[in-house]
Amino acid sequence: MNFKNKVVVVTGAASGIGLACCREFAGRDASVAIIDLDQKTGKRAAQELREIAGQVEFFGIDVSKRAQVQAGVARIVKKYGGIDVLINNAGIQRYASATTCSEKDWDLVLSVNLKSAFLMSKYVIPEMIKRGGGAIVITGSVQSVAAVGNSVHYVVSKHGLLGLTRSLALDYARHNIRANCVLPGAIDTPMLRWAVSLGPDPAGALAACDRMHLRGTMGRPEEVARVIAFLASDLASFMTGAAVAVDGGMLIPAGGLASQEQGLPAAKP
Ligand code: NAP
Repeated sequence: MNFKNKVVVVTGAASGIGLACCREFAGRDASVAIIDLDQKTGKRAAQELREIAGQVEFFGIDVSKRAQVQAGVARIVKKYGGIDVLINNAGIQRYASATTCSEKDWDLVLSVNLKSAFLMSKYVIPEMIKRGGGAIVITGSVQSVAAVGNSVHYVVSKHGLLGLTRSLALDYARHNIRANCVLPGAIDTPMLRWAVSLGPDPAGALAACDRMHLRGTMGRPEEVARVIAFLASDLASFMTGAAVAVDGGMLIPAGGLASQEQGLPAAKP
């Protein structure tokens, strides 16, 4: 997996899974465009990555805003000469049900998590076509195919990203563009640490996150980033429109792990 002479754009790249992706691609000789809201951490990440390899620049773009995405993609193309790989990763987490979710929060989560990936694709794909093809990887979630309670806008946004992945795969295959989606389980990132801090027992919530996975621990950002890099590489040339679970087996037990721990005798080999 080498990305020499490839330009890779990562959104939500100053933190967590996005930052791990930038490290992965920079370590494999890519030129990397870091997109994030957060100027301070974004610039710090670019500085750190320049020491690894390749050309790395930070672009402060709110990916939920059409005008910023359009202008930002134009700036990246001016700086790097084109775009080969797009990682649509930016996302936020909020908690509410259909009756408690405000219209404002619904619009925010759907804009940042879903509309952003549409907007980035809208402006990046023409640049990929000019280069003869490209690869798009979208960070979905296990919540792209299953639901977690009190998370209606997040669940809907992540289900939508799977639809976007499949639409992109179908519409742009003839331009030699592949689109795939990763479905991470619980990954130890600032987003997850923030989420567990909301409850009365953060340590207990963290331990529960570990127990959700067959191996008994959460994922690390680099474990997702490696799969994303694979899907973006020519090694995955026959993969498009796929939903790839990177979830430590979280989605495997029917009935959840409780059914294994306290359920049928057959569950205890
Ligand atoms: P993270 O550590 O919070 O990183 C997300 C980054 O996206 C942050 O740097 C954030 O900037 C940035 N961002 C937020 N809104 C943005 C916007 N409008 N424009 C540009 N950048 C924006 O989160 P993470 O856990 O790595 O999550 C990355 C992706 O993985 C998300 O799509 C998330 O839904 C998905 N995911 C995470 C997990 C998990 O357990 N962590 C599991 C499944 C899927 P600010 O810090 O300034 O807001």
